[in-house]
Amino acid sequence: MFVFKSIKLLQDHLSENRPKFGKVGYVPTMGALHQGHLDLIAASKAKGCYTVCTIYVNPTQFNNTEDFEKYPSTIEQDIVKLTQNQCDVLFLPSSAEMYGAQVVADKYNFGTVTNSFEGALRPGHFDGVITIVSKLFDAVKPDAVFFGQKDLQQCMVVKHLINKRFSNIQMNIVPTKRESSGLAMSSRNVRLTDDERAVAIRLYEALLFVKQQVLAGVSASEVISIAKAQWLNHPKLKLEYLALVDADTMEQHELVRPEIHYAVIIACWCSNVRLIDNVLLTD
Ligand code: AMP
Repeated sequence: MFVFKSIKLLQDHLSENRPKFGKVGYVPTMGALHQGHLDLIAASKAKGCYTVCTIYVNPTQFNNTEDFEKYPSTIEQDIVKLTQNQCDVLFLPSSAEMYGAQVVADKYNFGTVTNSFEGALRPGHFDGVITIVSKLFDAVKPDAVFFGQKDLQQCMVVKHLINKRFSNIQMNIVPTKRESSGLAMSSRNVRLTDDERAVAIRLYEALLFVKQQVLAGVSASEVISIAKAQWLNHPKLKLEYLALVDADTMEQHELVRPEIHYAVIIACWCSNVRLIDNVLLTD
């Protein structure tokens, strides 16, 4: 695996070899890699792409200093995992390389997709995401990109960005990888104690309950209040949202209609770790 820290060296490598590689597939990450990230690499390889992964913890997308400071870093293990999973290139930039002297995000408004849920609760988060994803797409110039359904709203934000600015890039959304308990894999899970992990699986249980009941015709508000009482009323949990949404626009809905593609989404603190998850109503 080639490792580059500078955009110039990365671009020289990619442009010299692009005709030989065929398609370039790209997987941006913040590292502390787990099987969910490696599934994205596998999806890119399965499409025959020459595969580039980034590890960069982007400061401008953190609205919470403690979350940024405590973000796990396991770069040596990450390099081993990427090599074992046939990743072709690792791009490992610094903030100076990505931003220059001013580490600030531009402002974006894509309507509900940027302003609801994660956008409303984490002010500036999607400004940071869109700013860095734009810079990374400009650096790598990928043909295909691979993002995880785990961050569903982020996927929709990136889809909008691609439609607006990068229409030649093909977007791929890879299903959420879970622990055998059902807990969605996340780099932040390493901050959970065993007790907290045991409680955190309630998020997925609540999602599955809401999905099943809504598909059976119960209204979202009714089933969500039952789910809150039954699964999420626990001293270690603090719910931020649990909602039925249009999975493309992130608009909240009460009842399902056949023509819309829905998801049930959740954000919940488990002690001092903020977890998000979702399930699609139909595949
Ligand atoms: P992160 O390093 O958390 O910024 O995530 C990098 C990419 O991996 C994003 O596209 C995430 O949606 C994706 N990802 C994170 N966790 C999972 C998971 N459990 N399953 C699938 N993809 C994931």
